[in-house]
Amino acid sequence: MNRFKHLYIYMLTSKVDSNSILAYLTSMINCNIESRGADALYRGLDEHSIAEMYASCRVKDIFKDINSNYTTHVSEDVEYELSILNGAPSQPNVVYDGFRLQYLYSSMIDADESSLDNVHVVITDRLLATYSEEDMRYHLNTVVLGYPSIVSIDGIVEAPAKPRAFYTLYYYHISRGIEISMDEVKSIFKDVMLEHDDPRLTDVAKGYIMQALFYSMLNDAPFCDDKRCILYNAHWQDEVIEAQIRYGRLCTKHREVLDEFNKHHDRNYDATH
Ligand SMILES: [Zn+2]
Repeated sequence: MNRFKHLYIYMLTSKVDSNSILAYLTSMINCNIESRGADALYRGLDEHSIAEMYASCRVKDIFKDINSNYTTHVSEDVEYELSILNGAPSQPNVVYDGFRLQYLYSSMIDADESSLDNVHVVITDRLLATYSEEDMRYHLNTVVLGYPSIVSIDGIVEAPAKPRAFYTLYYYHISRGIEISMDEVKSIFKDVMLEHDDPRLTDVAKGYIMQALFYSMLNDAPFCDDKRCILYNAHWQDEVIEAQIRYGRLCTKHREVLDEFNKHHDRNYDATH
């Protein structure tokens, strides 16, 4: 087990309540926790360089891995990124390669904070996708685990599938010429799916940050088979709500892993400092 000593959270979104997240993490994990803003991640990069970094991660063709078919980004993507950095709303069809972004973020982390004692987690509202060799296409992600781990708040809404009945009901009305808006259908399903302005996203984000922390602790995929454990790898929206909101806890096995981490932390810390 890697008993890291410092946790840095980079909050790049205002869609979740960072104070609530920090209070939760402090109650869960025995290490030094520091919340940081975007400036701490970008560390003196000028706006144009930051915009170019994001533009270089844009997925333009979901069937082509940009890491092996990289073509230079275009200036209109840089312009778009500059507008986002200045507060313009993002477009829902803009998706970034999660591994490429993770690699670029990792190169920005201070060398003094890059040992295994330090865990870095970036919380973003950008949509991330990673390319799968299995079916040779991109898939949206809720979290990209690694160094740093990246939790995507928009990904939590978009990546896990909505209930099949949601689409069935919507198209049933449309096919019969009955006027119904997507919002009206969504309101019926609010107990089993999340939306972009959903206040429950803060609690869901806590669970995905814990997945990142378990990944750093175990040096391995942290996922749990228990659908009521926050480490469950949900593929459906109702599974996200079940694990992260209805239960919102670790299963007995993972609680023991965390207790073990917390129990030994201070002693190891004292022994090595
Ligand atoms: Zn578990």
